[in-house]
This record gives sequence, C-alpha cells and structure tokens, in this order.
Amino acid sequence: MKVTKGIRNARLTYSAAPPACGILGHQLCVGEGSEKGEEERDCEGRPDGPAHLARDLADERIDPGAENVAEDEEEEHPAADRPPERPFALRVENVARGGRRSFHPALPSPQAGERKRPRPAKSRLAPVSSAPATAPRPDLPPELDDPLFRTALGQLDGALDFADVSDHAAEVLRFPERALAVSVPVHMDDGSLSVFPGYRVQHSSVLGPTKGGIRYDIAVTLGECAALAMWMTWKCALLRLPYGGAKGGIRCDPRALSKHELEGLTRRFTSDLLPVIGPQRDIPAPDMATDEQTMAWMMDTYSMQVGHAVPEIVTGKPLSVGGSVLRPEATGIGVVMVVEGAVGRLGWKLEGARCVVQGFGKVGAVAAHELARRRAQVIAVSDIQGGVHADDGLDLGELDRLHRAGGIAGAEGTRPLTNAEILELPCDILVLAATERQVTEENAPRIAARLVAEGANGPTTLEADEILAERGITVLPDILTNAGGVAVSYFEWVQDIQRLFWTREEIRTRLADLMGDALDRVWTLSESEGLSLRSAALVRSIREVAAALEARGIHP
Ligand code: NAD
Repeated sequence: MKVTKGIRNARLTYSAAPPACGILGHQLCVGEGSEKGEEERDCEGRPDGPAHLARDLADERIDPGAENVAEDEEEEHPAADRPPERPFALRVENVARGGRRSFHPALPSPQAGERKRPRPAKSRLAPVSSAPATAPRPDLPPELDDPLFRTALGQLDGALDFADVSDHAAEVLRFPERALAVSVPVHMDDGSLSVFPGYRVQHSSVLGPTKGGIRYDIAVTLGECAALAMWMTWKCALLRLPYGGAKGGIRCDPRALSKHELEGLTRRFTSDLLPVIGPQRDIPAPDMATDEQTMAWMMDTYSMQVGHAVPEIVTGKPLSVGGSVLRPEATGIGVVMVVEGAVGRLGWKLEGARCVVQGFGKVGAVAAHELARRRAQVIAVSDIQGGVHADDGLDLGELDRLHRAGGIAGAEGTRPLTNAEILELPCDILVLAATERQVTEENAPRIAARLVAEGANGPTTLEADEILAERGITVLPDILTNAGGVAVSYFEWVQDIQRLFWTREEIRTRLADLMGDALDRVWTLSESEGLSLRSAALVRSIREVAAALEARGIHP
C-alpha cells in the first residue's frame, strides 16, 4: 500500500511543515521534581506514532519538544537579555535533561500583590498594539509564533492597556490553556493512505465549556487555531455566553477530497479529539469548508463511542439530528444586524448603501442577501476564484445557482474582478467574509469603503487596522460582527440539552437581543472612553473573562 504523509495534491509533507505533535497547556506543565520528568516527551521513535496522543492526553504526559524549545530559547536569549516585563506564562521546561528552564521568569507570586496596569499616555484611538505582526516574536514558543496569533496577541496587548485587569489575569489570557495536535490517517479512494495534520486548541475554559469551529484548509496551523480560539473566547464573553473559546482544523485541500474521503477524515479526526471534546467540555461547530454534514459525522462518531445519541456534542448540525433553525444563516444575519445598528448610529441609511462582499460562502452569501433584503445595493461579491461586479446591483439568486454549480465567476451581466480589486472598489460598506489577513498594510491605504464589517475572523492585520483608523474608516470588529453564529450555536446546544426546540421567530428575536445588546455596550464604551470599536469590544470581553478568572483564582 502506498503511504503518503502530507496533503494529497497539495504536496505538503511533514518534513516541509511538521505539525507540532502533542499537547501543550498550562495544566500539563510538569513542576520541579515531578516523577514524570524523566519520561520521553517526543513523538519520534514511538512505536505507535501519533496514535499515542490520545492516551497521553488522558495521562497528562506530553510536553512536546520541550527540550529543544527551551534549549534554543536559552541560547538565543540569555537571561540578561530577556524582557523582564513580558513574562511568559506557558512555561516550557527542560525536564528531560533534569534541568528546569522557563522562557521567561515567572510572574510575582499572588502574595506579592497584584499590580494594575498604569493608564497609558498613548492615543486611545490607536486601535491595537503597534507591535508588528509580521516580525517573529522570540518571546513566543515556536508553535505559536504564527502571523495570526501575533495579530491576536497584538490586539490583546493593545486592549489590555485600557482593560484595567490584573497582570495575573492578563498573563493567563495571553496563551491557550490546551492544544492537541494529531495526525489523521485516511484511506483514499485510489487505495493509498494519506496522513493529515489536525489540531484543536482550547483558549480558556474559565466561563464554561469551550466552543469553536472546525476548518478544513490548506493553511491550518496550530498557531492559526490558537489565534482563532482566543478570538472565540472574546466573542463568547462579549455576548455573555457561558463558553470559552476553541478552534480546530485539518490541514488539507478539501476541494481535492471526495465525500467518502471527507467522511473518513472527519470520523477519524473526531475519534482523535475524543479525550478533549464533550458537551460539557468542548463543543465543535462548522467553519471554513465544513458544514452540516461534517457536524452530523462528528455527532455520529462521538455518539457511537458513548453508546447513545449526543446531539449537544456539536452545533451546526442538520435539523434531523438536533440542529437548530436559523443556525446556518445566523452568522450572516448577525453581521447585517450589527451593520444596520452601526449605520443607524453613524446617521446613515442602509437603504441604497452600496455594498461589496468578499467571500460568498456560509457567511458572505447570507450577508449579501440580508443586505439586499434591507434594500442596500450589493454591487460586487467574490469567492476564492475571483469576483463579479455590476454597478446597478447583482442578481444574487443567479449567483446562488452558480455558487452551487461550482463558482460565481462569469455571471451574466457582470464584470470580472480579482480579489485584490474587489477589496479596493469604492463603496459604502465592505463586508469581509472570506478569510483572515485580507486587508493588510499594503492595500489598506487604497480601501475605498466608509465602513468595514468583519464577517470573517481576523481579516484585518494590526498594521492595516491602524491605517484604516487614521483614514477615518470605521471597522466593525470580528468578535462582535460575526458573533451571531456562536450565539445561535449556543441556542442549539441549550435546545439539545433540554430536548425542547424553539421557533425561527423566537431564535431571531433572541439573536437580535444579544447582538443589539453587545453592540450597545461596545459603542457606549467606545464613545465614553474614546476607544476604537475593536479596542472597546476587546476591553468588554477581557473584563468579563478576567472577572471570572479573579473570582475562581488559579488552581492549585
Ligand atoms: P465558507 O468556506 O463557507 O466560505 C468562505 C468563502 O470565502 C468562499 O466563498 C470561498 O470561496 C471564499 N474565499 C476563501 N478564501 C478566499 C480568498 N483568499 N479570497 C477570496 N475569497 C476567498 O466559510 P464561512 O463559514 O463562510 O467562513 C468565512 C469566514 O467567516 C471565516 O473566517 C470563518 O472563520 C468566519 N466565521 C464563520 C462562521 C460560520 O458560522 N460559518 C462564524 C463566525 C466566523
């Protein structure tokens, strides 16, 4: 049998992009003098390979690559050069050599008293930290030193200046509680076997079980999942949902896989995640290139393991297995609820507003229809293959048909545009609903929208955010704008647990209440404190989580 390690068709291999194999997290660090300290901590050479991960998780034995990481960091950053005020809570210890080294010194003990951050002198209108997201950060462990995680951390650091929470809480929230890396073997249709890297990262369980999507994409990394998990924590806290954030995914090209292969991939990945997911522990949902069918396979795989149907293990399922009405449309509907609220506060009208939507998937297509329903004019949309533009407004029904048939390119009566061009089209409202890092330092000076709504997660880089702010372009931040999806996921989970289902109207009303309330709180803080909407949203979220963290304390 032919064995291909890596991603079919994409020609990525483990040697080119090795997945971090193991689990990291505060709770898995081994303290001084631990009995477990002498154990082998590397996947390499294990007779059962990555399959040991699940068992090791249960045993809490893994501290991946600790030896090399700690050693490299020690050499590159001798103690005297380390940034003293940027301690790193996720301690990686060189236990295998009998020594114990942290990346950075630990925080002062709680007994030493908690310091509040001094109020900064810098401009509050700077929406985020000015630390460059593009440059590597030696204060991060290598597996987290990813551009998206640097963006998430930069945003957090910028908002912490205004959040007025203790340094202890801030430090805990900087890093994910737990991350699981797995290697997912799949029998391919041609008889070969491929192994795909997969991840699940849980950022914070302070407020409740963790919640977040599963994506299938060629660019999935542990660092990307960590950033998205952190944003999920803020999103849930902002909406006051009893959840923390998580995210996961498999690095693969989903368009190159058959339905049968996708099912095999999903079922095996779910089995690999069993030690860390559960209805009271971590509840997956769809994200990029995953859908109701993916969730039904996950629900079935989990249910087979426990011996009875457990619909509340995932959200975004088909109605037939405990899904909720309005969940498929919830994120796109929520985006437009926030846009409508913002437009009202800005004194504009949505009716007649010229809108551009990047991404015509689960979020973007629904957002485009919702905008059109409110008599806004959708003049351009795009998918991964490119965009279409019609100055008098697009025929969205026709685009739906083309989308189902494989792609919107070439729609009759439209002008083709590249994805780069579509972002720079003059318009009133630009909805970013494709993927992360789309508005960058490079194109931000040419964005010609008055309002940018982040339907996608992390579509604006730190540098671009500052440029848009300087240019007076209002940005509706992702953790607020696309939170409708997790809100209705929460409703689905609640309905599943109580086995009592609500009507579409009830859910739409509850969603409107949650989104409206969150927008109110963000807008009020933004105005009263002179903060950008992103900083205001982050500050609100951080305060919610930090308050719970302070009340619970650090165990043990
Ligand atoms: P999807 O896979 O259904 O749709 C993504 C769309 O973007 C597709 O039309 C795809 O062709 C297009 N696209 C992908 N890469 C692109 C690129 N580089 N340039 C232009 N277009 C590109 O995914 P989705 O569920 O709609 O998610 C989109 C974004 O919204 C992601 O960032 C996701 O994390 C975020 N999000 C989704 C949900 C949800 O409920 N689905 C909730 C919150 C946030």
